[in-house]
Amino acid sequence: MIRFDRVVKKFGDNTVLRELDFTVAPGEFVSLIGPSGSGKTTILRLLMTLEKVDGGMIEVGGQPLSHMPRRGKLVPADEKYLRGMRRRIGMVFQQFNLFPNMRVLQNITEAPVRALGLSREDAVRRATELLDLVGLADKADAHPTQLSGGQQQRVAIARALAMRPEVLLLDEVTSALDPELVAEVLRVLREIATTTDITILCVTHEMQFAREVSDRVMMFDRGQVLEDAPPDRLFTAPEHERTKEFLRAVI
Ligand code: ADP
Repeated sequence: MIRFDRVVKKFGDNTVLRELDFTVAPGEFVSLIGPSGSGKTTILRLLMTLEKVDGGMIEVGGQPLSHMPRRGKLVPADEKYLRGMRRRIGMVFQQFNLFPNMRVLQNITEAPVRALGLSREDAVRRATELLDLVGLADKADAHPTQLSGGQQQRVAIARALAMRPEVLLLDEVTSALDPELVAEVLRVLREIATTTDITILCVTHEMQFAREVSDRVMMFDRGQVLEDAPPDRLFTAPEHERTKEFLRAVI
């Protein structure tokens, strides 16, 4: 579902990703861990098409993302092509960024109606199901400001899923939350990971969570995958000294 093929990303003289290769299979939940500055967020930003590759190629759902086919060749993707591809990818950020002037239900129905052309009735039906999934069926008419951070983040998750993305990107989704609100968001993500076939790529500092829900964990260091293993192996028997050090520091 996701393929990075010798992806290079530079910021000026700083080469952040060096010929990075990895794949994520359909339905897999993959967590990215590693020290700050190792390139995890850059990977998500490339997938969100907020950044462009400097080399190599990215594919999503078997189609090129960084490039587009043109007369039998692959050329850098243009804005129109990217708009089509972006719909296949949902994102949830540290900051929930809900529309403050809209009620919870409308926050979720807005994009499916406008971007997918869903009827309002269908969008409301889908939003109601999703609010149920994230445990907020009773908050449809609330304003975001009336909700706790954990509740707002759960609405943001429902909003991302309303577009029926094939891939869901999670960027430190609990980092901005008070500690007592983290568990409810992780519970919802665990539910989504186990009950849907969506492919999830998750940058997280929540090692216990990564261990419980991931099919695979990729340890990053200096723009490269240092270790890529099922969570039980990575957390209990890491191969690299660098991984051991990192885990000692964060667990
Ligand atoms: P992580 O998410 O693992 O903390 P990032 O992907 O945010 O790492 O950053 C990787 C490296 O890229 C860092 O050295 C960071 O300073 C650099 N970087 C990220 N974004 C930019 C940018 N927009 N301009 C310049 N350098 C950047």
